[in-house]
Amino acid sequence: MPEVTGSKLPGNKTSIFSVMSKMANEYKAINLSQGFPNFETDQELKDLVTRAMNNGFNQYPPDIGVQALREQISRKVESLYAKHYDPDKEITVTSGATEALFNAISAFVHKGDEVIVLKPAYDTYEPTIELNGGKPVQIQLKGQDYQVDWEEVREAISPKTRMIIINTPHNPTGTVLSSEDMLDLENILKGTDIILLSDEVYEHLIFDGLEHQSTSRFPGLAERAVVCASFGKTFHNTGWKTGYCLAPRELMKEIRKVHELTVFSVNHPMQIAYADYLKDPQHYLELSGFYQQKRDLFLNLIKDSRFTCTPSSGTYYQLLNFSEITSENDVNFAERLVKEKGLAAIPVSVFNINQKDNSQLRFCFAKTDETLEKAAEILCNL
Ligand code: PMP
Ligand code: GLN
Repeated sequence: MPEVTGSKLPGNKTSIFSVMSKMANEYKAINLSQGFPNFETDQELKDLVTRAMNNGFNQYPPDIGVQALREQISRKVESLYAKHYDPDKEITVTSGATEALFNAISAFVHKGDEVIVLKPAYDTYEPTIELNGGKPVQIQLKGQDYQVDWEEVREAISPKTRMIIINTPHNPTGTVLSSEDMLDLENILKGTDIILLSDEVYEHLIFDGLEHQSTSRFPGLAERAVVCASFGKTFHNTGWKTGYCLAPRELMKEIRKVHELTVFSVNHPMQIAYADYLKDPQHYLELSGFYQQKRDLFLNLIKDSRFTCTPSSGTYYQLLNFSEITSENDVNFAERLVKEKGLAAIPVSVFNINQKDNSQLRFCFAKTDETLEKAAEILCNL
């Protein structure tokens, strides 16, 4: 057997999402850890996939994605954010947003390049930067409501800065960037060659009347941005692993080179089905209301517990602070919660700089009301 020397990702452990979901299964716990719905995707959409399979769409689709789907994506983005992306040159269908993020980082980050990452951050960004020989430059989001200190971002920029990654609505904190944030960023990036990687997988999950400030709304950002999106998050089918990215054609040319090497193309019948399903905007416009109800139900059910929180403004995650319940660290508490109480959540320290522990767990509320009620009962008894 060949000896494995020099791991390319020496510090990487199994993803916390796999770890917690596995534990939840083992202990037959309610799983509010990994972010996926426990209810079914729309029957109409499943029927469209079945029809596509029966109609013979079972071989490789075009590598950049089915034309009808790219056209529908272009229409959706234009109607929501008033920005036209050319379906042929500026939109690529990917195997979830994960692949889009991987492609964008791999296409543009060279050895020694710096990439600014706002922490806490989703867990694929930094290992992908490192895999490409780049260096993550971490900046902590500030305060209880995890605001970006744009002055700090400005100061962190060096001649080596190749990219900055933002994520709105934000996993794991549930905060969202405002139009002022986006304008500050636009101002900072003006005149630089820095590429903006904008992770917008939760674009349709935003609450309390807030509007998603997509990077594509801001010309000075869109001209340098790769925007990543996920149908799995939007249409309750994370297991279908289908998403897309948007970028100006010169950037997209390079992204497509990596896309051809990673997956070449993405499952065909799902693309045909999404293309049809997207014709009705209601399918994504109703999501914010739907998930806001879930958030409100969950928060109402735990209002008499000893957890404290700021209500989530977007995503389907709610952070809860447990410092009034125990002084143990979040990883221990999360483990004990699964093993002894039958409820799985994500310890937030795994996303933080140096795994800083702020006594917070992340709970996914993309669950049936019945599941949320059972989970809340456990939380209220702690
Ligand atoms: N970015 C963020 C912030 C996420 O939470 C996720 C998880 N879905 C992804 C990217 C990956 O999305 P997908 O499942 O479409 O690969
Ligand atoms: N995005 C999901 C979350 O934050 C999980 C994705 C994954 O399991 N890799 O929970």
